[in-house]
Amino acid sequence: MTLDRILLAEPRGFCAGVERAVQVIDLVLEAYEAPIFCRREIVHNRHVVEVFESKGVTFVEELTEVPDNATVVFSAHGVSPTVWAAAEARGLTVIDATCPLVTRVHLEVKAYVKKGLSILYIGHAKHDEAVGVMGEAPDRITLIETVADAESAVVADESKVVCLTQTTLSVDDTQEILNVLKSRFTQLVVPPKSDICYATSNRQLAVKKLCEEVDLVLIVGSSNSSNSKRLVEVARSCGTAAHLIANAGELNMEWLTDVRTVGLSSGASTPELLVDGVVEILQTKGTPSVGQVTVAIEDTVFRLPRELQQAGS
Ligand code: SF4
Repeated sequence: MTLDRILLAEPRGFCAGVERAVQVIDLVLEAYEAPIFCRREIVHNRHVVEVFESKGVTFVEELTEVPDNATVVFSAHGVSPTVWAAAEARGLTVIDATCPLVTRVHLEVKAYVKKGLSILYIGHAKHDEAVGVMGEAPDRITLIETVADAESAVVADESKVVCLTQTTLSVDDTQEILNVLKSRFTQLVVPPKSDICYATSNRQLAVKKLCEEVDLVLIVGSSNSSNSKRLVEVARSCGTAAHLIANAGELNMEWLTDVRTVGLSSGASTPELLVDGVVEILQTKGTPSVGQVTVAIEDTVFRLPRELQQAGS
């Protein structure tokens, strides 16, 4: 059987936060003297990191690997206050590429703590974003990863509790956890605007729509990209076979056996050229048409950090 159709999900790939982070590090390379360091992967995509390594950026896990007084970029996932304090103590020049939507969750934590609330934070342990957010108030935040965690969570005062979330979670799984929390904590505060960002929600919705028409879904993204992994789960929860691949080289042609229509999407940190590479390989499997399933048109653009606004204009 040959492949008849390739359907691309729209939106897919780079979100406004990733576009901004990539632009930030490009402008830092232009405007600041070498060496330039970046704490953790600027975005969770190996290809993006390798491109910047080839331009001279040194990626480090911790600030202890950065020499005093050097220039360091903080990644799109944000950092905890202890990291900011360490940078200041070392005299480092920091350019912050944290996505403004992640920063918003940090600010929510501070505001709710000030009001005396305990925070139930739905997220993934060890993810850079979760570590940064939880660092804002480690004594007041309880991490909730699963329904079981929601069922057993304990807070100091059940009349003063709020639920916040990581930006890149599964919309459906989070709702399930939230329902448990709401049933246990009847006065639970839930911010009016979900912390799960527009890009995460749109990409999940587009994959669901794809699943109505395709036999197989391929998600292009790195294995440490939270939102890419969620896209695979979303497709599978729709009953459609799905695989996460970093690039065309990871495509296993055996997956295409008996597949007439393949759906393709990519995580918010995946460059479009990696999707193009997969389309090219798929086109060797017959003469498939290439179409698109669109659920939203995104036009969000975030302002650059103040230090770079002139360089970017
Ligand atoms: Fe920001 Fe959402 Fe993109 Fe994360 S996925 S960088 S929160 S816009």
